[in-house]
Amino acid sequence: MPELPEVETVRRGLAPSLEGARVVKLECRRPDLRFPFPDRFCERVEGRRVAALSRRAKYLLADLDDGEVLVMHLGMSGSFRVEDAEDSHLPGDFAHARSKDEKHDHVVFHLSAPGSDSDAAVARIVYNDPRRFGFMQMVPRAGLTSHPLFAAMGLEPLGNRLDGDVLDGLFRDKRTPLKAALLDQRLIAGLGNIYVCEALWRSGLSPQRAAGDICGPQRGRRALREKLALSIREVLEEAILAGGSTLRDHTQTDGTLGYFQHSFAAYGREGEPCRTPGCGGTIERMVQSGRSTFHCPTCQR
Ligand code: ZN
Repeated sequence: MPELPEVETVRRGLAPSLEGARVVKLECRRPDLRFPFPDRFCERVEGRRVAALSRRAKYLLADLDDGEVLVMHLGMSGSFRVEDAEDSHLPGDFAHARSKDEKHDHVVFHLSAPGSDSDAAVARIVYNDPRRFGFMQMVPRAGLTSHPLFAAMGLEPLGNRLDGDVLDGLFRDKRTPLKAALLDQRLIAGLGNIYVCEALWRSGLSPQRAAGDICGPQRGRRALREKLALSIREVLEEAILAGGSTLRDHTQTDGTLGYFQHSFAAYGREGEPCRTPGCGGTIERMVQSGRSTFHCPTCQR
């Protein structure tokens, strides 16, 4: 499952080709992905210009010039491939990934040049998804925040809104473990298992500690939640700068693998020495709510 930094990396990779471009033609090569495509999907998208490409949690939002938003989710194994005159020269991973997976190319956007009045297609963005857990929906921009996908969604973990005071409000009186509270999408949206493990390790906080334990006016608690909020933003931002992250199925929009996985400090490092200076502990794995938690019991309290 791609995590938020990967989706943000995908957004940044697609934006130069998509923003300001007109969808000259939309090809759907099957009737559905995880869900059926929207009614008259091609008709509604073709001819529209993409005003902006943004992201909310792990959803990509392409604002069309008629007020509809094309909402896209990558599911487990979805990826986008940009093909234009320049990118066709990219060697290595790109060519390999493309030829291997062509039978899983399900949706093809044929795009005009961004900002151009010409309707000649100069680029293609191809959605590929072997396992087909991804999906696409059309939602009016005016109804987006009240749409079932977004109505109960918590705040974005990237950006200045997430700070210690916000965590104080979200976690107040909560006896659930910090790990579970941070994964609760109704509180903070788009934060996944890997980055919760990393942020807790970086903050020196035990994943089993009650979330409400870092709330309240005491100076020590205030420092802990400030540290946690900063750590969350840092691990996400570093992952984005490193090119996304992880997982077997996931590639950047240019086809190369993200490499942030090599710098995880806790996630996936069971049995390895903790990297906290002077700690001397060992990273352990435990299972919380059915998910692997990697942590250092020595320095995470
Ligand atoms: Zn440690």
